[in-house]
Amino acid sequence: MSLLSYVHPTTDSPWGTYLSQVDRVTPYLGPLARWAESLKRPKRALVVDVPIELDDGTVAHFEGYRVQHSLSRGPGKGGVRYHPDVTLEEVMALSAWMSIKNAAVNLPYGGAKGGIRVDPKRLSVKELERMTRRYTSEIGIIIGPQQDIPAPDVNTNAQVMAWMMDTYSMNTGATATGVVTGKPIHLGGSLGRVKATGRGVFVTGREAARRIGLPLEGARVAVQGFGNVGSAAAELFVQAGAKIVAVQDHSGTLVNGRGFDLAVLIPHVRETGGVAGFAEAEAVDDEAFWDLPCDILIPAALEGQITAARAQRLQARLVLEGANGPTVPSADDVLAERGILVVPDVICNAGGVTVSYFEWVQDFSSFFWTEDEINLRLDKIMVGALRRIWDTADQHHITLRTATFAVACERILTARAERGLYP
Ligand code: NAD
Repeated sequence: MSLLSYVHPTTDSPWGTYLSQVDRVTPYLGPLARWAESLKRPKRALVVDVPIELDDGTVAHFEGYRVQHSLSRGPGKGGVRYHPDVTLEEVMALSAWMSIKNAAVNLPYGGAKGGIRVDPKRLSVKELERMTRRYTSEIGIIIGPQQDIPAPDVNTNAQVMAWMMDTYSMNTGATATGVVTGKPIHLGGSLGRVKATGRGVFVTGREAARRIGLPLEGARVAVQGFGNVGSAAAELFVQAGAKIVAVQDHSGTLVNGRGFDLAVLIPHVRETGGVAGFAEAEAVDDEAFWDLPCDILIPAALEGQITAARAQRLQARLVLEGANGPTVPSADDVLAERGILVVPDVICNAGGVTVSYFEWVQDFSSFFWTEDEINLRLDKIMVGALRRIWDTADQHHITLRTATFAVACERILTARAERGLYP
């Protein structure tokens, strides 16, 4: 039975969305199109049972995954997600988007992703640690500083990465800081990593806004997902003179036309776990989020949020995809028809993996850079990558998403063709 027969993608499901994105780029690949089928097949997928003893003495089993979509350009690289909706199909799509993203910013990596189907909010810290350690042990046969390097994603953080690094190191007999990125600073982590994805969203958003003549001073920004990515991006937009007029997370949707005071909202979310209950705002129905007046929309939660119907109602001029896969293909068409510019996930949220790459390089050289150096290099790489993508979009009259896929697929398939087929 082939790996692909285990998943049943629909048009708007994550893997179905990815396949449709690959189909859209194939006409622009020239002779490399011969290799395009390899983009539609993950190289390797590992499904693991993660049994742990709960605090009450019972045993619980969780299903975990690590998918390496492509290793043509270097080791696998991509985050680990803990969420009750994680499936093999979702992890396949997320790993494929990592291949595209890493190639789009020209990092020397392939693409990988991992996850466990679990609601981590129901576990104690000790249970979370046991689950992380057992998962790391189970996927230990395919990860490593030169093989595949995990990082944080939804519901995972620096502490989870520290447990992963320690478990891998214990099993291999040597401290291997380069096996994961997004670690705590004193364990080989990098300055600037925590906010890097949000910073990348801001940098690409700043460049896109400049190109369409949208001043950031006074711009109204709506953010879905107020976690690591959404809150960091929001802070930088506010620093640039924009105001956050709407926020939505799993706990609710809030509106404040005068602009949220993030110095109060961020501690509220940290302390209570969500935006709900924040006093200085009006709570509205979740669905109302999609037609609120705003200039910039930042989806920074989960996949499949911008459907064709919601795309018809958006008021924004610019969509910055902090999340992976937030827009389904049919919605992409609606947004293009309506002249709403989308900076796609595969470049917009690449700031995190770019600073992860810096972290990995610093770990190998055991020489650490200042935060200013990191932020400057990040800015330069993101601006350069976006410029190249924009040129490709202008040349072929295609969307930024298809252009990003064109640049990235050309790099991946060139590596594929140059390496040749083994044996
Ligand atoms: P996080 O766990 O820190 O935050 C996730 C946010 O999404 C939370 O605010 C949560 O309340 C919200 N959310 C969850 N379900 C929701 C729902 N149904 N409706 C509205 N909001 C909902 O995760 P994160 O690291 O900020 O990741 C967010 C997105 O960014 C994901 O798509 C992730 O893959 C992507 N991403 C993350 C990174 C990174 O470095 N962390 C890098 C690239 C891409």
